[in-house]
Amino acid sequence: MNVHESEKIAGILMSRGLTECNDGEPDVVVFNTCCIRDNAERKAIGQIGRFKQLKKSNPDAVIAVVGCMTQQDGAGFALRRKFPFIDIVLGTSNIEKIGEYVSDALSSRTCRVEIDDDPRPAIVEGVPYHRSSGCNAWINIMYGCNNFCSYCIVPYVRGRERSRAKEDVLAEFEKALSDGYKEVTLLGQNVNSYGNDRGDGYGFASLLEDLAKYKGDHRIRFMTSHPKDMDDRVIDIIADSPNICNNIHLPLQSGSDRILKLMNRHYTRDDYLAIIEKIRAKMPDCGITTDLMVGFPYEDENDFEDTLDMVRRVEWSNAFTFVYSPRRGTPAATMPQVPAEVSKRRIMKLIAEQNSVTRRLSDAYVGNVYKVLCEDAVDKNGKLTLCGRTESGRMVNFNGDPKLVGSFCDVKVTRSQSASLFGTRI
Ligand code: SF4
Repeated sequence: MNVHESEKIAGILMSRGLTECNDGEPDVVVFNTCCIRDNAERKAIGQIGRFKQLKKSNPDAVIAVVGCMTQQDGAGFALRRKFPFIDIVLGTSNIEKIGEYVSDALSSRTCRVEIDDDPRPAIVEGVPYHRSSGCNAWINIMYGCNNFCSYCIVPYVRGRERSRAKEDVLAEFEKALSDGYKEVTLLGQNVNSYGNDRGDGYGFASLLEDLAKYKGDHRIRFMTSHPKDMDDRVIDIIADSPNICNNIHLPLQSGSDRILKLMNRHYTRDDYLAIIEKIRAKMPDCGITTDLMVGFPYEDENDFEDTLDMVRRVEWSNAFTFVYSPRRGTPAATMPQVPAEVSKRRIMKLIAEQNSVTRRLSDAYVGNVYKVLCEDAVDKNGKLTLCGRTESGRMVNFNGDPKLVGSFCDVKVTRSQSASLFGTRI
């Protein structure tokens, strides 16, 4: 979502005549920050600090900091105090003003700190995007989150759920297709609750149904789903719609019911397993991925074993694994913390367990032919290699003409190496 938001920032600035700076010193630098984890914040602070030098050599340069990090309680002004060379600090719901404020700063050195704390800021439509993700177009269908998982900062910095009007989503989708994008990824913190705030009965399943009606050679993906809101109708529509990818990201977070409760996730491991069963009954080849966290407060060895057990039972094609990171202002930050060395040991074990599942699943791809959307041509040891994903979301490397980037290719997988697949175009 942050990558897509950066596309928005770039679009707004470019609509005002600014261009990308690929070498030399930039006149304008915008940091789009994330505060989902402590590491992301520390990296942002380190990067911002580096630009003190730019300001010294080019005092007219404009430095702006936007995004989640600025939206935390008092963080916007604290940033400005720490780095007085910052010209603009904007909160998450003020981002559309970046063009106006950068222009003001360039022309009259006006500094601004603007953090709006309205939990339901209005959605601004018609903002230009400078898409930079190849043949995939990201489309936000909603903003914010109502779930307040006890470890997560998102509802505090992104506000409550606000869904875009279906007409606006459909119009952006049509435009992306007419611009030649072959894949559209619908974005939301919890796409399954799309429309709940609008109260007109038009939800995520209805949206998927409408999007599936568009004919043509393109694919639709979406992220992220919350297990508590995943309903049968959505599963049926994905299964019945050839242009909606059989690929679902369904974060479990923990395999322990006790920890799931402390996380305020509103489902149990059995609920989760029941959803997986339904998905696999309708789509045996569905690529299912997840997020898993270790070291959440109170997590003991039994809880962790429950998570490992789920890795073996569910057999996710991939899992994004994290060590819990306390976020100021969230309930979990005040709970007793698991020692860092324990979390470290658990994450290593978790990664090893998931890797062995991924390796086994990778082997099952060998010998089969998949329709792959060629996304990029990358230099590997002096040789250009194409890469793209199967419908289930697995990345395949294969040889071919770089002109194929942006088109669908039939690729026979000839070998696998851990999470990587290699094949030949047929
Ligand atoms: S559903 Fe996702 S974004 Fe929302 S609070 Fe939970 S983890 Fe955060």
